[in-house]
Amino acid sequence: MKINLYSDTQSIPTEAMREAIARAPVGDEQKGTDPTVTNLLERVTSLLGKEAAIFLPTGTMCNAVAVATHCGRGDGLIAEANAHIMRYEAGGMASISGVLPKVIHGQDGQFSAADVLAHHDEGSRYTPRTTLLAVEQTCNLAGGTVWSVAALDEVAQQAKELGMKTHMDGARLFNAAVSTGVAAAEHCREYDSVWVDFTKGMGAPMGSVLCGSSEFIERAWHWKHRLGGALRQGGMMAAGCLYALDHYQDQLAQDHANARLFNEGLKNITHIKVRHAETQSNIVYFSLTGVKCTPSRFVELLAERGLKVGFVGDGLRAVTYNGITSDQINIALKLVREVASSLEAIN
Ligand SMILES: *Cc1c(COP(=O)(O)O)cnc(C)c1O
Repeated sequence: MKINLYSDTQSIPTEAMREAIARAPVGDEQKGTDPTVTNLLERVTSLLGKEAAIFLPTGTMCNAVAVATHCGRGDGLIAEANAHIMRYEAGGMASISGVLPKVIHGQDGQFSAADVLAHHDEGSRYTPRTTLLAVEQTCNLAGGTVWSVAALDEVAQQAKELGMKTHMDGARLFNAAVSTGVAAAEHCREYDSVWVDFTKGMGAPMGSVLCGSSEFIERAWHWKHRLGGALRQGGMMAAGCLYALDHYQDQLAQDHANARLFNEGLKNITHIKVRHAETQSNIVYFSLTGVKCTPSRFVELLAERGLKVGFVGDGLRAVTYNGITSDQINIALKLVREVASSLEAIN
């Protein structure tokens, strides 16, 4: 049996989602006349408590469009060192928007108002103006950690006092909402822009929605078009996102329970060390200790037995999503135990 815990991006549309996609009423997305996209935008706008929204093919494009819309060339952007926007977006902020990254080395992907203050530059004849704060909810490379709403408010309020704009990469914001029991709109209430991804644990094949003020979204359209993200019958894809919105609560709760089960099991395996005693959402990070084996080799050995995990950032990563059952998690634990016990120990 093959078990794929590499990423929640490996989720594939269910039969029911495929049916919803096949039956979607469609129009011309870039003219604003695709009824299914319009429906999705209205749903997300209200769920996130913002004025307006725009449909984009990927989360990476949401970040690129948001940065381009908020910032001028040569402006500084504050984000955490392991944020996706820093590490995995091909330098988009620099190459597309000419923006200077101002990097905070935080804890678990998070930081404080004092960190924001310390990394801010007002701008002068000599210094670049820091104009945007970007946070990630949940923090992917930190292990799916969840910011508290109080901490999110605090850093955003500090940024606003400094005259900056605030942006939330909410690729897994719905995971955070399910994990905390606090509505998504509360998490992003202090943020000028926020987006959600439907292709991670939400299980849709394509689509993200970026939200903000009507004025911001109007300017974002210019960048969507410029980057080639304006669509035609986008409703086919929006239908998958709408289907996900109607069904995500129980699914994500199950994903979180499966991640917890995996993390608990790993704690009892010799030579395995989990990064967090308690998982907070659907991501588990772990490492090897006391053995002569590199993480990459360990990933290969597991793959040979039918278990796919990632070596992502600086650790071994397993992510749960809608294709994964608790039975598979138990088998995965058995495979990790078998491989770990076969490794040569360092004395
Ligand atoms: C996946 C991800 C993105 C990028 O989204 P894509 O839809 O893959 O382009 C951005 N930020 C975070 C935190 C992510 O996990």
